[in-house]
Amino acid sequence: MEILDGKKVSSEILANVKEELDKIKKKIGFAIIWVGDNPASEIYVRNKLKKCMELGIDGKLYHLAENTKEEDLLKLIEKLNNNKEINGILLQSPVPAGININKCFNKIDCRKDIDGFSNVSVGNLWLGEKGFSSCTPKGIIKLLDYYKIPIESKNVCIINRSNIVGKPLAALFLERNATVTICHSKTKNLSDYTKMADIVISAVGKPNFITEDIIKEGAIVIDVGISRIDGHVVGDVDFAKVSPKASYITPVPGGVGPMTVAMIFENILDAVRE
Ligand code: NAP
Repeated sequence: MEILDGKKVSSEILANVKEELDKIKKKIGFAIIWVGDNPASEIYVRNKLKKCMELGIDGKLYHLAENTKEEDLLKLIEKLNNNKEINGILLQSPVPAGININKCFNKIDCRKDIDGFSNVSVGNLWLGEKGFSSCTPKGIIKLLDYYKIPIESKNVCIINRSNIVGKPLAALFLERNATVTICHSKTKNLSDYTKMADIVISAVGKPNFITEDIIKEGAIVIDVGISRIDGHVVGDVDFAKVSPKASYITPVPGGVGPMTVAMIFENILDAVRE
């Protein structure tokens, strides 16, 4: 069994991004919009701004009040779309109830849509056109590529059908000629699918959801889930029991999470190069 070390791979990617950004001798602006006071968002936003500092990117935080109206958020996005000093825009989710997040994602100019959540970016992804793909799915593919794990013709089982993980990930695996199954909470006999899979990706958010009896010998196991138990971050996979059976496995923390962050900045580099 080999650990897919997202921490190591992401730091190599970020070092490369920094090298490339340094060559582009101009100011690079990244706008992060955070609406409300969700404590988890605060950590994510702070980490992104810290990375901006490390990479020499001008990270700008637009922190809006919980009671911000959708139309005001849309106006801000429009303003940032038209601001030549801003190369990338990211709207931190979740947003307060009453704001239609998809409407706001769709407002982001697809050339600045770092998260790839706008309808234009999603359409481009499924059409195989150039554009930004969302960071967690892209990070998973990068990690597999780094370890030279073949994807073509593999049976891939994704347990998640959300817009940010399961759906874009399915598109990326299809593009790489894998055979993809998407499972979710209404899937019957889930283990029938996981046991057939060469690559299992779990993004459920339930600790110990993936046990050794539901994966095949030698499977590649990617754990996207994030849960907190007694202040510790854990994934979906019962790592101690599953890892001896897997050929490759991601740890949590230190697997998919850091790859997601690295892809944000790779996407910014792409936006700047546009
Ligand atoms: P989500 O929208 O709640 O998705 C959870 C998915 O799990 C849904 O598709 C749900 O099915 C499915 N599910 C729930 N219970 C199930 C069951 N018993 N059997 C089969 N499927 C089941 O959450 P999300 O935003 O996609 O995130 C998923 C997890 O990944 C969370 O733990 C999140 O924190 C983590 N995450 C991590 C990263 C990272 O960078 N590491 C990035 C994004 C998300 P239904 O669609 O039928 O409800």
